[in-house]
Amino acid sequence: MTKPEYAFFKGKIVPIDEAKISVMTHAFNYGTAVFGGIRGYWNDDEEQLFIFRAHDHFERFLQSAALIRIDLPYSPTDLTNIVSELIRTEGYRENVYIRPLAYKATPIIGVRLHDLDDDATMFAQPFGSYMHNETHNHVCISTWRRVDDNAIPARGKIAGAYVNSALVKTDAVLAGYDEAIVLNEDGHVSEMSAANIFIIRKSVAITPPVNANVLEGITRRSIIQLLREELGVEVVERDIDRTELYLADEMFMCGTGVQVASITKIEHRPVGNEEPGPITVKVRELFHKVVRGRVQKYRDWLTPIYSTEAIATK
Ligand code: PMP
Repeated sequence: MTKPEYAFFKGKIVPIDEAKISVMTHAFNYGTAVFGGIRGYWNDDEEQLFIFRAHDHFERFLQSAALIRIDLPYSPTDLTNIVSELIRTEGYRENVYIRPLAYKATPIIGVRLHDLDDDATMFAQPFGSYMHNETHNHVCISTWRRVDDNAIPARGKIAGAYVNSALVKTDAVLAGYDEAIVLNEDGHVSEMSAANIFIIRKSVAITPPVNANVLEGITRRSIIQLLREELGVEVVERDIDRTELYLADEMFMCGTGVQVASITKIEHRPVGNEEPGPITVKVRELFHKVVRGRVQKYRDWLTPIYSTEAIATK
C-alpha cells in the first residue's frame, strides 16, 4: 500500500514524517481516540475524485468524539474542506481511503476523559479492496460478543473498542474464515468485525436495528435507501436470530472498507446456493455506480475534489 506523503496535523498540512505523537499521549495509552473511515472514488471519464458522503461521515466522526468528550473546533464542512485540500496536495487520481482521527493529546498518566487536550489529525492513502474476495465470503459466528453500548459506546468509532473487532477478525481468519458475524450480549446478530450485515429472506432485506450495538454505518444507511427506492426491495430493521442466518436466501456485508461483499457460506452451511444472490448482485452493482457519480440522483452524496464548480451532469 502506498504511504501518504502528507497529513493534516496540529492544524496544518505537513509532510507525513512530521506528523508524530509522543509515546506518552493519552490516546496511545488508553485508547481514548475516535476515528473515521471514508472512501474517495476516482472516476476516469470525468477525471474526478469523489468523496462518498463526506458530510455524513464527518458528522458521525464529531458525534463519536462527543461521546468521549473530545471537543474539536471543526464542523463537518471544515473537515470536508481540510480533506479536499489534503487530497489535492497529494494529487491522487485513484481510489483512496481517508482516515480522520481525534484524540486525547495530553502526555499524562491517568484514566479519565476530562481535563485533557484534544487534537485531530487526518491522512489519505490509495486504497483498493479491503476484502480479498467480494463475492464468495465464508464466515463464522464469532465466539466473541460485540462490545456493548453500556461498556463502550457501540455507535461511535472509538479506537479502544476496535480491540473487540480485531479479536473477532483475527480469530476468524486464523481459523480459516474470511470474516465473522458477531452476536451482541442478547445473542442476536449485531454485525461483522468492521461492517454491517443484511440478510435476505423471501425477497425481504433484514438488518439489525441501530440499538443492536451496531455501528450506525453510512453504507448501511445508503444501502437501505438504494434497496427501497431504486430496487423496490422491502427493508426491515429488526433483531435477527442466529438460526435465521442458516435459513437466509442471501447475505451480504457492507461498510466503507468492505463496500458490498456477499457471504455465501457460514461455517459448514451454505447460504442459498452458495452463490451471490440476485438482490445482493443488483445492490452491489448499483452501489459501485453511485459512488463513482454515475447515478445522477445520488450525485449530492459526493464531494468532487478537483473542482469547486457545479458538478457537470451526465
Ligand atoms: N461496523 C463497524 C464495526 C465498522 O468498523 C464499520 C466501518 N466503519 C462499519 C460497521 C460500517 O460503517 P460505514 O458504512 O460507516 O463505514
